[in-house]
Parts: sequence; structure tokens; C-alpha cells
Amino acid sequence: MNPTAVRRLAAYEQLSANPYRPWPARITSITELTDKETLFELRLIDDDVRDAFKFESGQFVEVSIFGVGEAPISISSAPSKQGFIELCVRNAGDVTGALHSRQCGDIVGLRGPFGRGFPFEEMKGNDVLLVAGGLGIAPLKSLINHIHDTRHEFGKVTILYGSRSPEEVLFARQFDMWRHRDDFDLHLTVDQPDETWDGDVGLVTNLFERVDVDPAKTFGAICGPPVMYKYVVAEMRAKGMEADRIYVSFERRMKCGFGKCGHCGVGHQYACIDGPVFNYWEAMNLQEAM
Ligand SMILES: Cc1cc2nc3c(=O)[nH]c(=O)nc-3n(C[C@H](O)[C@H](O)[C@H](O)COP(=O)(O)OP(=O)(O)OC[C@H]3O[C@@H](n4cnc5c(N)ncnc54)[C@H](O)[C@@H]3O)c2cc1C
Repeated sequence: MNPTAVRRLAAYEQLSANPYRPWPARITSITELTDKETLFELRLIDDDVRDAFKFESGQFVEVSIFGVGEAPISISSAPSKQGFIELCVRNAGDVTGALHSRQCGDIVGLRGPFGRGFPFEEMKGNDVLLVAGGLGIAPLKSLINHIHDTRHEFGKVTILYGSRSPEEVLFARQFDMWRHRDDFDLHLTVDQPDETWDGDVGLVTNLFERVDVDPAKTFGAICGPPVMYKYVVAEMRAKGMEADRIYVSFERRMKCGFGKCGHCGVGHQYACIDGPVFNYWEAMNLQEAM
């Protein structure tokens, strides 16, 4: 094995050997998306650790702010974006609040990637229907960008995204780009429009009446507030989609990220290792999952 490969293997082993150890990462860019959510771009400092860091859309990292604590955050960038990861973070409490007070060039800690992501390889060759509500677009954006990078390997791609108000629409610029492409079918809706809004008004489930689905060749991916899942799944089922082709990403309070502490139990499974992405067939059989 050449020396680079040996070093990378060692870094990979180091990454997995002590999953409690946070790796230093530098904040390389900060973009305010709304008054609560900010997009942070991070770069792991150690070259070999960075090269060994591979993830799937739907996985998450534990972000640590030294002296404050850790929080699980989904990776928003696509796995194909090498060297950097993006996290879309809502200022919700201690850790995320401290992260929002950091500046470009500051150092944070990263552990992971953890969990089971979306079945990207299995989805290839199929249509994909992605449905997000609010901050739920964070993990789905990784999947959308990944599909975008290998667009020819997928059939029809439909994105339905619902927000409370126009100011709360995340990734508005990127949505503008997708909206102008003819190989993405994008529908946005808000609960409370203002005078600037020219999209749909109402719940994200209302958008289903405009969507044609071939259930035999479509995969669904859903992420949003807990109340949304039941209704979105019902719409997908009404379109004839089988439960095992519908994927849902669950948020549960979690700590370790790798199935040791038991904080994120969902039925007999742990959201951190068996999820956070489950197919609906699995979710139906998990107590209190939906
Ligand atoms: C797999 C996964 C992926 C996630 N991805 C993202 C993401 O991409 N972006 C993002 O912004 N967030 C994401 N989250 C949510 C994020 O991890 C939480 O909001 C986390 O609590 C933030 O940490 P904090 O220290 O900033 O907030 P905390 O201080 O933990 O407070 C957050 C909120 O929870 C309340 N709270 C605190 N402790 C408890 C408790 N024991 N029981 C009930 N409520 C409590 C607080 O009052 C506050 O309203 C994700 C969570 C999971 C599990």
C-alpha cells in the first residue's frame, strides 16, 4: 500500500476507533438564511481525517462547542462536495446559540458521521418525490444536491416544500435555481403569505393534487416537523406508493450518536444507528415512531 493510503487508513481507523473524540473543524463560511437559521461551512483541520470523512445524505454529525456541549446536526451538503461540509442550524438553545455567535475562522468540534442515511444507490433509476417542511429541508438538501450531481441516473425528481412564511423559506436562492431547471419539478407553499409571495398558499399536503406519481418506480423521502409525517405518508399511500418505498427521517433527543447511551430509543431501535432515516414499513412497526 502506498504511504498516502496507509495514512488514510490510519485516519479512518482513528475516526472510528474513538467515536467520543471530537475532531477540530474550522468555520470557513457563514451565511445567514433567516433570522433563526444559518448555514455554516466547516472544514476538518487534519488532512487525513478530512480525507477519511465520508458520509451519506441523511446522516448527521455531533457538533461540539467546547465548554458548552454537543448537538446532533444533519449534513446539508452533498457527499460529492469534497473537503467541506455544510450544516444548516437553527438557533434553538445552548449549543446552537453558541455556534451562532462564532465567526469565520473559529474552531468547533465534529464527531461522526453517524446514522443511516437515505438509500441513494437503491433510489437510482427511479423517480424521487421529496417532501420537506421547515427545517426538514436541511437533510433533504443533501439528497437533492446529490441527485443533482448524478441527475442522469434518476427519473423524475419532484420537490414539495412547505414553510410557515416567505421569510422562513430556507435556501430560497437554491430553490430559485431548481425552479428554473426543467429536470426538477419544484413546488413551494407557505401558510402565511405576504405581498411578495407568488407561490402556493396552504399546507404542503395540498401540493399533492398537482403531482403525478408512478408508484412502482417512485421513492419518497420526507423530513419535517413530527405532525407532518402522518399526513404526507397518507398522501403518498393514496398515490399507491408502497410503505417500503417511503423514507422518513426522525429527530429524537440523542447524545452519543452511536447506540451506547440509549437516549434516542424508538421502540426497540435507536434513532442514532438504526435511523435517523427509516422506511415507513419499519417505522410502522416501531412503537411511538410516528
Ligand atoms: C438526527 C438529528 C438531526 C438534526 N439536524 C438538525 C439540523 O440539521 N439543524 C438544526 O438546527 N437542528 C437539527 N437537529 C436538532 C438539534 O439537534 C436540536 O435542536 C438540539 O437540541 C440543539 O441543541 P442546543 O444545545 O442548541 O439546544 P438545547 O439547549 O438542547 O435546546 C433546544 C430546545 O429543546 C428544549 N429542551 C432542552 N432540553 C430538553 C429536554 N430534555 N426535553 C425536551 N426539550 C428540551 C429547549 O428548551 C429548547 O427549546 C437535529 C436533531 C437530530 C436528532
